[in-house]
Amino acid sequence: MHRAYVALGSNLGDPKRQVLDALDGLAALPGSRMLARSRLYLTPPWGVREQPQFVNAVAALETSLSPHALLDALLAMERAAGRLRDGERWGPRTLDLDVLHMDGVRIDDERLTLPHPRIAQRAFVLLPLHDVAPMLELPGQGRVDTLLAQVDRAGCEVLP
Ligand code: ATP
Ligand code: MG
Ligand code: MG
Repeated sequence: MHRAYVALGSNLGDPKRQVLDALDGLAALPGSRMLARSRLYLTPPWGVREQPQFVNAVAALETSLSPHALLDALLAMERAAGRLRDGERWGPRTLDLDVLHMDGVRIDDERLTLPHPRIAQRAFVLLPLHDVAPMLELPGQGRVDTLLAQVDRAGCEVLP
């Protein structure tokens, strides 16, 4: 069994509903159990600024899925939520599901990089990840609480 941390994000359609539905979908993945879910956050767009605000969350799962099988399941959930990939990097999306980290796993191939390489730069990931795993050590980046203290979290708020 692996412990896996998954980041959720949405800024098209009904983002809060899509994130809540995706949390339920993660809990129902084969061979998997939801260990913890973060609060939901409203966050400013990152990378491409001229787009709606995002709703973000993080889930901690226990799973028997391999890293690539988990990625495939997440990509299928994105497609089911109407995610279109039109080529614009970091553009608006109905649902983004990224594997942040799986305990003991380092991967860098054409489909999957673990840990996710951009966690340290992203308050929209670190805030919810801190809810579920503040002391988590991300190989190559640092500990979640330390990283969160160093990142600009302006404009991020907890969704009521
Ligand atoms: P970012 O990775 O900066 O958050 P993104 O989530 O918008 O960008 P996507 O368009 O969702 O990028 O994904 C593009 C590809 O990234 C996926 O098809 C997948 O193969 C690859 N990928 C590599 N590592 C990961 C990971 N840890 N989690 C999810 N996808 C990954
Ligand atoms: Mg992403
Ligand atoms: Mg993604």
